[in-house]
Amino acid sequence: MADRRMRRFFGSATSGAAAAVLLFAVPSLVRPEVPAVQTILIPGVALELSFRALQPGEVILVKRREDPSVRRIDLRLRTQTRRVEFDGKSRTVLLGIDVAARPQSYFMEITTERRDGSKENVFRKLTVGPKEFPETNLTVAPGMAKAPPEEAERIKREAALVASVLGAVSPEWLGEGPFVSPLPEGEPFPNFGQRRLYNNEVASTHMGVDISAPEGTPVRADNAGRVVLASDLYYSGMTIIIDHGLGVFTFYGHFSKILVKRGDLVKKGDLIAEVGHTGRSTGPHLHWSVRILDSRVDPFSLAALPLE
Ligand SMILES: [Zn+2]
Repeated sequence: MADRRMRRFFGSATSGAAAAVLLFAVPSLVRPEVPAVQTILIPGVALELSFRALQPGEVILVKRREDPSVRRIDLRLRTQTRRVEFDGKSRTVLLGIDVAARPQSYFMEITTERRDGSKENVFRKLTVGPKEFPETNLTVAPGMAKAPPEEAERIKREAALVASVLGAVSPEWLGEGPFVSPLPEGEPFPNFGQRRLYNNEVASTHMGVDISAPEGTPVRADNAGRVVLASDLYYSGMTIIIDHGLGVFTFYGHFSKILVKRGDLVKKGDLIAEVGHTGRSTGPHLHWSVRILDSRVDPFSLAALPLE
């Protein structure tokens, strides 16, 4: 049963011939153990970090700890900078570890500004461990792995549109509490980060998770935010992108029907669309992915975190 569904979805980005090859490629995939969320304190700094794992594709939630002497803390990790304010209500601060991040030690630069005006700068080591992502290797006829040349211009235009949408960071947090699955009754596949090889060459990395459900199943907003894209795209079909603020975006694809439009404000749990198989997909499912600034991360890593 699971194998049959997986065949359909793992084959969804490719042709019928390639999908047939997947019959043999899929059974080696095993659902990975999901680690529990852990919290660490940074000695001498009024912050705590929560995450499932320090690995590529994971999300780190940063929370402030009680310290009346602190006004704000600026953080820098790899290419991402974040500010934690200690005045007013708690603010959500998320850092992403990109799916393609090299497993190694990174230094997080932490600048604490105190109310007396003094500043301290410290570096703390965060060791990002290796992660094994699933892989499928498909043997297809030369030329079958790529989109037809007449679609190249459309694909390029749509990639630029998505990049410009994801590049526009809203300065305010729009979400409310933790993220939830947009399709909780569906069957998620452990295919985040899956490397898809065609004829032994890496053709693509799967940047989201696929969740199987019958066509027409309602899909809901994973958190509050603003719809910043609601369009029919070549690869992901009928697609929605929701901006949750501070560079956090969720992306949903392959719908049969879109029920919101660009500019709409949605609440967590609002109906946004129905499951379908538009775009490069041979069976009904939801493709769900998350971007945090420049990091592509596992949506279930984000949904595991106890956001306030
Ligand atoms: Zn997908």
